[in-house]
Amino acid sequence: MRGRTCILCGTPIEGSGLGGLCPKCYAERYGVARLPSTVKFVYCTGCGAYRYQGGWNEGLESVEETMTEYLKIYLTSRLKPTEHLEEAWIDGVSITKPFTGPGVYEVHVDLRGVGAGGRVEVGERAVVRVEASAGLCPHCAARMGGRGYQAEVKIRGYAGRLSSETLEEVKRALSRVSRGLEKYLVRVEESDGGLDLYLTDQQAARIIAGKLRSLFPGDVIESYKLVGRRPSGKRKGRLTISLRVLEAEPGDLVVVEGRKYIYLSSTRQGILVIDLEKGVERVVRLGGRTSRRDVKVIPLEEAGSDVRRLMLLSMEGPTTVFLDADSDYREVVEVPSGRVRVYVESMKPGKVYMAYRVGDKIYVVRSLDSGGEQ
Ligand SMILES: [Zn+2]
Ligand SMILES: [Zn+2]
Repeated sequence: MRGRTCILCGTPIEGSGLGGLCPKCYAERYGVARLPSTVKFVYCTGCGAYRYQGGWNEGLESVEETMTEYLKIYLTSRLKPTEHLEEAWIDGVSITKPFTGPGVYEVHVDLRGVGAGGRVEVGERAVVRVEASAGLCPHCAARMGGRGYQAEVKIRGYAGRLSSETLEEVKRALSRVSRGLEKYLVRVEESDGGLDLYLTDQQAARIIAGKLRSLFPGDVIESYKLVGRRPSGKRKGRLTISLRVLEAEPGDLVVVEGRKYIYLSSTRQGILVIDLEKGVERVVRLGGRTSRRDVKVIPLEEAGSDVRRLMLLSMEGPTTVFLDADSDYREVVEVPSGRVRVYVESMKPGKVYMAYRVGDKIYVVRSLDSGGEQ
């Protein structure tokens, strides 16, 4: 089969070339692939998402990049290799003028293909007309209209209202943890001394609630409410996530289902506490996804007879000695030093501390700034 040439231009070809033509003549006559001549491109002006196959997909950094990426995906799904080629693909897509908004754009599509059992490769630059138009994806439409939410996150304290300090902290944390999910956040409302978030996406609601829970001690429960049916007959539900934030300072009493604990700190698994009955440290879970426990917080100042104000006299030697400030400094409290657990930064003789006596142990949980000179 040696010595054959292109039937159009006479260039030597291998075998029978592509239908008797050299790659150049083949590309000129047949092209590499057939493509739609016009493509519609719809993007969301709110978040840059683009429409594809009846749904909306997340966009890239700029609308221009999104459009290029969309054209690669869309045209690849539509292209058909010409007669003598086994395969064709898109090598690159470039817009011939900068993207400036809705309008018509001419786009160059570099096509490559192979034929003759993969031995001959051809290339072609095709031109496609793109009609770009702007719209609103359902999330942005709902956000702008403030309606159509699928999930609600209610943030409250255990006693209902949150203190204004905690509320501010939650709001600051919210702007951090919702980064990248803003488009799902339809509305944020303060109500009943708490915060209500309305979202168009249930997964986004779970992510935000979970991240807030990891920043604040508390518990989260989920409930689901049917709110009707979709036109398709499928049930339509709304997710409510209730996040309770525990507002406790180290030393406060936390009462969980009637049992008293001294609050120390918060961990991912629950709260680290001292069991006031048994005098041991442990982690108490406040709730799961579906259940909630009865929890109350009693500030240290209101802990009553459980807490004593003790003035440190000495802590050298085998025993530690305090004077009980609540009995007018008349009662001496002397305990083996190994039985004093200190949860304040440092202790100095002459200063007064708030402490719990549990069994034969003393838990020093807070120092009183004023000292003990009365
Ligand atoms: Zn030729
Ligand atoms: Zn959008």
